[in-house]
Amino acid sequence: MYVTLGEIFDQTVTKYPAKEALVDLRRNRRWTYQEWQADVHRLANALNAAGVGKGDRVSTFLFNNHELATTLFACAKIGAIFNPINFRLKSEEVSFILKDAEPKVVIFENQLKNTISEIQPEFPAVQFWFIDEAKPDFAKSYQEEVARSHTAPPEAEVDETDTYAIMYTSGTTGRPKGVIHRHRDMAEQSLICINVMKYNNSDVGLVTAPMFHCAELHCCVIPRVHAGASSVIMHQFDPVVALDTIEKEKVTVMFAVPTMWSMMAEQQGAGSKAQTLQRGLYGAAPMAPVLVKKVKDILNVDLIQAYGQTEMGPAITFLLEDEQLTKAGSAGRAAYNHEIRVVRPSEDGPSEPDDILKPGEVGEIIVKGPCMMEGYFNRPEASDKALYKSWYHSSDLGYMDEDGYLYVADRVDDMIISGGENIYPREVEDILHEHEAVKDVAVLGVPDEKWGESVIAFIVSGDPSLTEEELEEFCRNNDKLARYKRPRSYRFVDELPRNASGKIQKFLLREQKTETGSR
Ligand code: ATP
Repeated sequence: MYVTLGEIFDQTVTKYPAKEALVDLRRNRRWTYQEWQADVHRLANALNAAGVGKGDRVSTFLFNNHELATTLFACAKIGAIFNPINFRLKSEEVSFILKDAEPKVVIFENQLKNTISEIQPEFPAVQFWFIDEAKPDFAKSYQEEVARSHTAPPEAEVDETDTYAIMYTSGTTGRPKGVIHRHRDMAEQSLICINVMKYNNSDVGLVTAPMFHCAELHCCVIPRVHAGASSVIMHQFDPVVALDTIEKEKVTVMFAVPTMWSMMAEQQGAGSKAQTLQRGLYGAAPMAPVLVKKVKDILNVDLIQAYGQTEMGPAITFLLEDEQLTKAGSAGRAAYNHEIRVVRPSEDGPSEPDDILKPGEVGEIIVKGPCMMEGYFNRPEASDKALYKSWYHSSDLGYMDEDGYLYVADRVDDMIISGGENIYPREVEDILHEHEAVKDVAVLGVPDEKWGESVIAFIVSGDPSLTEEELEEFCRNNDKLARYKRPRSYRFVDELPRNASGKIQKFLLREQKTETGSR
C-alpha cells in the first residue's frame, strides 16, 4: 500500500515531534518536526487562500533553504504540484519553464531577484512571492503571507496517484522537459533509499547538492523525513564549509556529486574533520574508480553509488559499500522492484525491449520500476517515445556483466565513432584520471576528415609542467587502452563546464576551438 508525501510527513511528526528536523545554516535557524509542521501548514493554508488548489502548480526559484523544503510538503498536503526550478538558469530558460508549467505562484529569493524581475512582465496572472527583505514592487512577501495564515491542518483529498511534482530535466540533451512524478513514485523511491542508505532517526544528513534536483530531494531529504532523521541545509556547496559543518553538526550521511566529493577530499588532506561522517552517496554523473578510492580513503567514509534519471525517480541501481573495489567502474545492481535490460539500440525509433543483448555487449539501458514517471508534461509524443512498451529508454549505453552488475558506458550522443570503431569517452576519461597530475578530464569526439571523428581530451592539470607528450606516453603504456581509443590531441583548460548536477557540459567544449596542445 502506498501513501502520499503529506501522510509520510505527518506520520514522522507524530512519531518524533520534538526531534530536530531541519537546520537552515544561512538563516542560522533550527526546526523540530512539530515546528516545521506548523510552517508547512501555514504555507499550505496561505497558498490555499491565494487560490492555489489541487493540481495547481507552485514553482520555486530558490537556493537550498527551509522555504524550498517547506513548499514541497505544503504542496503535498493540498494536492498542489511542486515545481522546483534550477537556480542557475538564465531568464529566458526560466521563462520557458514558467510558460510550460503555468504555475499560480512562484517563490523566489534575493540573489535571484534580477532574473525574475526581467521576466515578470510576461506573466501578469502569476503571483510572485519573495522570501527576503526589500521585496520588488511586483512581488508579495512570503513572510507576510505565511504570518497571516494559520497552523490548522489544511483540508484536501490527496491520493497516492496524484501528481506530486513536475521536475524539469537539465536540458543537457535539448529543451528541458517536465517530468511528472506521483506521490506513490516518491513513497517507493523513499523506501528504496532508506533501505540502501540505512537512514534512521539518529542520522544527521548534510544537504549540499541542489535541492531542485531529484537526487538530493528524493534520495536524501524525503527519505530522511520518512525515517525521522534530520537534514542540515547548506545554501550552496563549499567544501570548507561542508567539512566544518560535518564536524559541528555531527553529520553522519550525505550525498554529493563526484566533483563535490573530490573537492572535499582535496580540502580534507590529512586532517580529521569529517570523523562523524559514516555513509556517503555519489552519483548523477560518472565518477572514475580512482577518485572513488581516493575519496573513500581520505574521508574514511562508506561510499554507495546511485545511478539513474530524473524520469525514474531517480535511482535505478546501487553499487553498495562492499562492492566499490570488487566491482569498480560498475553502477551496481538493480534497485528493489526494478528490472533493467540492455537492448540492441535502434537507428530509427525506440529500441525494442525484447531485443536483449548478452552480458558484455553494449546497448541501450532500459528500465521498468515503481518510481517511473507518469510522462512528460505537455509532451505526449516525447512521453510515448521515452516510455515505449512501458520501458523507460534512458539513451545511456552500457552493458551487464554475468553477475547482473550494470556498467554505464556513456550517453548515446557522446559515443565517438572513429575509423568505424566505437569509443566510449568514459573509458578513456577513467584511465586519464589515473594520472596523478590530472585533476579533471573530459573526452569527446571532434570531426575529422580522415577518421570521421577523432578523440580529444580536455585536461584540468594539477601540475603546470604536465605536457601533452607525457599524457600520450601514459596512454601508450596503458594496456587497457587500445591504440584507436587514445586521444589524438589534448587541450589544457582551467576548469570544465559542469551543470548543477555535476555533469560535464560537453556541448560547450565542442563549441570551443580545439587548439591542439595549447595551454
Ligand atoms: P537531460 O540530459 O535528459 O536533459 P539531465 O541531465 O537533467 O537531463 P538527469 O536525470 O539529471 O538528466 O541525469 C540522468 C543521466 O545522468 C543518466 O542518464 C546518466 O547519463 C547520468 N548519470 C546519473 N547517474 C550516473 C552514474 N552514477 N554514473 C554515470 N552516469 C550517471
